Amino acid sequence: MALSISLVGSRGRMGQTIASLAPKLDITVAAAVDMGDDLSAGVAKGDVIVDFSFHAVTAEVIRHAVALQKPLIIGTTGHSIEQRAKLLLEAAKVPCVWAGNYSVGVNVLNALTQQAAQVLTDDYDAEVIEMHHRYKKDAPSGTAARLLEIILQARKLGPEALRHGREGIPGERTRSEVGIHSLRGGDVVGDHTVMFAAPGERIELTHKASDRGIFARGALRAACWVHGKAPGVYDMQDVLGLGQA
Ligand code: NAD
Repeated sequence: MALSISLVGSRGRMGQTIASLAPKLDITVAAAVDMGDDLSAGVAKGDVIVDFSFHAVTAEVIRHAVALQKPLIIGTTGHSIEQRAKLLLEAAKVPCVWAGNYSVGVNVLNALTQQAAQVLTDDYDAEVIEMHHRYKKDAPSGTAARLLEIILQARKLGPEALRHGREGIPGERTRSEVGIHSLRGGDVVGDHTVMFAAPGERIELTHKASDRGIFARGALRAACWVHGKAPGVYDMQDVLGLGQA
């Protein structure tokens, strides 16, 4: 039988893209829920709950998923590290995929970044640059947050090593800092560059998204994959069988 989903954030950019692609993948949108709609009635209808609304809504969506014992796809970004840690504990009570980016290409970028960060010493200054459309509400992007997490883990650094932009006279760059710069403008779907710069050479790993369909297809693929899995939080590396990045 074809899979059905309850789509939360259905009138948003991602919600509309998911709804238009779903039938092509033989997936039915059993309930389309946005602001002002009845969330609890909506999430009860589909086999899998797919949430691309707003980060402040995630806790409530997880609560419903756990009460209904339904698999869940979390697409929203913008949670603080502390918020995410708390939400992960609850989300693990159902089969849940939570990825800051559902595109295949970005998940390969994650794997390449991990590989580079493990080989390159701290003589290679690591900086992450991201650009998104003017309407994006959170910064840095969830994708950038994951790239930063990968670099911090490889270098055994904590979140205090992050430099969110620079201004004034911040002084010379230290070896232990990792820079993050968020650009906003126009209709950019999502660009991410990871840079490792050392005296004499520079490596840049770049991914550019030009169509939201890549996230929507990935999220729908994750919805099919998670249905019937054991409770626990998975990421796109699991869905794609890429191993851990
Ligand atoms: P958007 O602002 O266009 O859409 C969000 C929608 O959610 C809006 O229609 C809004 O009315 C709705 N919404 C807000 N509060 C709600 C509530 N309480 N109940 C139901 N609906 C509610 O944003 P977007 O560009 O579609 O992005 C949505 C989220 O997905 C953002 O957090 C964005 O960063 C994230 N995103 C993730 C990925 C990924 O691959 N993980 C890719 C793109 C976007």
